[in-house]
Amino acid sequence: MSKIICIANQKGGVGKTTTAVNLAAALAAAECPTLLVDMDPQGNASSGVGVDKTRLRQSVYDLLINDVSADSLVVDSGHRFLHVLPATADLAGAELELATESGREQRLKYALAPVLARYRYVLIDCPPSLNLLTINAMTAAAGILIPLQCEFYAMEGLSQILQTIRLVQRGLNPLLKIEGILLTMFDARNRLSKEVEDEVRAHFPAEVFETVIPRNVRLSEAPSHGKPVIYYDIASRGAASYLQLARELIRRGGEHA
Ligand code: ADP
Ligand code: MG
Repeated sequence: MSKIICIANQKGGVGKTTTAVNLAAALAAAECPTLLVDMDPQGNASSGVGVDKTRLRQSVYDLLINDVSADSLVVDSGHRFLHVLPATADLAGAELELATESGREQRLKYALAPVLARYRYVLIDCPPSLNLLTINAMTAAAGILIPLQCEFYAMEGLSQILQTIRLVQRGLNPLLKIEGILLTMFDARNRLSKEVEDEVRAHFPAEVFETVIPRNVRLSEAPSHGKPVIYYDIASRGAASYLQLARELIRRGGEHA
């Protein structure tokens, strides 16, 4: 059975794309067939796994707007068990074009259905806003993974996304669950990081992943090489943390099944 997880937080720069790319690669490395769906017009998840966007003739935009099948859009990442549904800049226009269409929130859900059986995990990287693209992702998903940067205002942003999740649960997707809250860019030398961790864990004891992603320069270098961190520097703490997250996700899934 396949599981769709969207990675969302309306704040930019909290580690959504880094998590989408590296968790997808780590799941694939564990031999779980994984599809990485890029729903951000910036297309950083696509280039992060080595997709050359200049050579794409079609992208997730065509899936949402032109009814092009997911099957014909999926590209190989060059890594076993990892496929990509890439995004290009034209996706930015999809929001407006979808706005007046019927079933605009369910486009992604129905478009992914025909290819689901091939994958154990589908990870969707969302843009940094709670717009129609993110709503499409939340409507398609069984779970939402919320990356939270360990900084002072972390908790404030959380209430806004939780409210959006409740809205989606009330109408478009009653089965949507919080897959987990992931603490990112944790800096062990910074007292604030620990304070944020304690506060978030106190409020959401069941939701916060045990795994914490450290601030690690290898994670920020890897995208410029078009590689997930496990193929850029397997010995790094960043690589170890995303491999651990993949194991935790697989284990949790097993418990719920
Ligand atoms: P988002 O997708 O939420 O906007 P990104 O994943 O693109 O966030 O991360 C924002 C920036 O921070 C990027 O330059 C990325 O390389 C860097 N970054 C993300 N996570 C880490 C980390 N754990 N350690 C160091 N740098 C990170
Ligand atoms: Mg991003």
